[in-house]
Amino acid sequence: MRWPQKPTITVEDVLRVCTPWLEKQGWDEAMHGRLPELVGQQRRYRTAGEEGGLLTLLVSEFGGQCKDEDKDRLTATYAKALVGGGGRKLYDALKAAAIYGCTICGVAKPETIDHHAPKDVFPLLALTPLNLVPACGPCNQGKSKSFSTDPAKEPFHPYFDDLGTDRWLFAEIRRADGGAVAEFSVRPPAAWPEIKAQRLAHHFTRNKLAPKYQYESSRRLATRRRKDTNTHENKGPESLRAALTEDADSCAVVDPNDWETALLYALADCDWYINGGMKDI
Ligand SMILES: [Zn+2]
Repeated sequence: MRWPQKPTITVEDVLRVCTPWLEKQGWDEAMHGRLPELVGQQRRYRTAGEEGGLLTLLVSEFGGQCKDEDKDRLTATYAKALVGGGGRKLYDALKAAAIYGCTICGVAKPETIDHHAPKDVFPLLALTPLNLVPACGPCNQGKSKSFSTDPAKEPFHPYFDDLGTDRWLFAEIRRADGGAVAEFSVRPPAAWPEIKAQRLAHHFTRNKLAPKYQYESSRRLATRRRKDTNTHENKGPESLRAALTEDADSCAVVDPNDWETALLYALADCDWYINGGMKDI
């Protein structure tokens, strides 16, 4: 999973580009009156995120923010002025930073922005760029709009969490009718704290990543067939294993936990495949 850097855009920038729309609503004075508080929220969010205390901060605000008198104005400003109005350039810039794809699945193009802390529960963070993370449509829609206080279910935050460079995504090749499929699973590194391992497991199942990666890998298995058959026939199984490992190593340099990295290592480890099984796919 390769994640974008923290955005340099601030909540002050967001409010500035939304001002013409706020003026039309007659809300500009009220919203600008809230700016110091929104800036304070932004500062606390950043500090908590950097210190690994974001969930604790959100739990302390849980239940309070959703009663805020400006909740509807804040969420409408997000939808009408930032997404659908004069702030669109900032919205697009946040999405464009995710050059390695959706920050949840790492597969699809990030066409939307997800509120890490849901805006209906935390409206004072509805316009905070640090709370706005690029995601593909299905991952965004699939993510719960409610908020869990369970630390094991805390979603990963692409701007603050670090999933390291050790491998934790693995695949296994399973022969199936008419060919083979890759089955994906996660195995957290032994050095990870228990809670981080639980969050990874939740991330993997909650976002239905196994079937998503299996679908992508089925197409890749089909497109590798010709090349891998040629290597097997012309150079032998161990040369094919070496070629697959080399391709896997190249992918791992970019992302050790990309589905393609896991697939290629799984193929290199699969005796059935390197001994000619690819011809049956
Ligand atoms: Zn996605």
